[in-house]
Amino acid sequence: MQNEIQGLKNAVPPLLQWYGVHKRQLPWRGTRDPYKIWVSEIMLQQTRVEAVKGYYVSFLEKFPTAEALARASEEEVLKAWEGLGYYSRARNLHKAAKIIARQGFPRDFEGVRSLPGVGDYTAGAICSIAYDLPCPAVDGNVLRVLTRLTADGRNIDENATRVAISRLLREVYPKEAGEFCQSLMELGATVCVPNGEPMCTLCPWQTMCAAHLSGREEEFPVRSEKRARKTERIFVYVLEREGKFALRKREERGLLSGLWEFPNAAEDESAAYGTVLAEKTAKHIFTHVEWHMTGYLIEAKEFFPRFLWVTPEEMRKNYALPSAFKAFKEWVK
Ligand code: SF4
Repeated sequence: MQNEIQGLKNAVPPLLQWYGVHKRQLPWRGTRDPYKIWVSEIMLQQTRVEAVKGYYVSFLEKFPTAEALARASEEEVLKAWEGLGYYSRARNLHKAAKIIARQGFPRDFEGVRSLPGVGDYTAGAICSIAYDLPCPAVDGNVLRVLTRLTADGRNIDENATRVAISRLLREVYPKEAGEFCQSLMELGATVCVPNGEPMCTLCPWQTMCAAHLSGREEEFPVRSEKRARKTERIFVYVLEREGKFALRKREERGLLSGLWEFPNAAEDESAAYGTVLAEKTAKHIFTHVEWHMTGYLIEAKEFFPRFLWVTPEEMRKNYALPSAFKAFKEWVK
């Protein structure tokens, strides 16, 4: 353990130095406001940096403080989140904002971790970046970087590995905890990238990285076999009548729970709705399931009362539709 700690301690200064020179300019960099850091971290969960940038800026324009977010309606929050996916994140942000508006933003790990939607990783990131606390934020990126650095063959999908590496990291956190946390993330995102293609010649650790020095970068990290995604066949109906389109709300459980959507079903029921004007297929990939969709633009034979009928303008302004339906939204005009 002592050797491991010392090895990792030696790796901190070159990493911080590299980060100071090479970090990307991102809209959430440079702030110490825990609210803004929290929003960025929640948005970045399972979502690419490029996709998050625009959302982050406009979300903060609409809701510049936790109090402003707490005052908004759930529909407004979901609308601001439209297209970003994993909507339970937006609902949890909203719920947590109400707590923060009453009690202030928590100042320690336990307090931050207790907010709805905040796990160990996010709490660690917020506490280190906002408050310089030595709270490791260990995700797949950080585990990959560190297991390569130390040629650590433990399976990173096992919780015990995550716990052991978090413990080790806590020992080496420098006083610039926020910079260190972000530098590890940055190295994983831009240099020590996944899929066996790290750019070692650009890496501040190239002279001390055990995997690189032994030419075994591709052997790390060790992971469990991935489970195959389930495929679901779905028929989507874009029903139009007199310039209005049909929407319905999903059930309050499971995938995309409680969000607005175009009517859809596992069976082809298009004939029951009216005259088909156009048809196309699309695919959407979620974490554990893949939707293979056939969409129909249909001139509806009546205003089916079980649906909400809205104009394209109302849909655009007030109803957040998941990006799974993006391909069919083009028909709404
Ligand atoms: S030297 Fe290569 S494998 Fe090692 S940490 Fe750097 S980029 Fe990753």
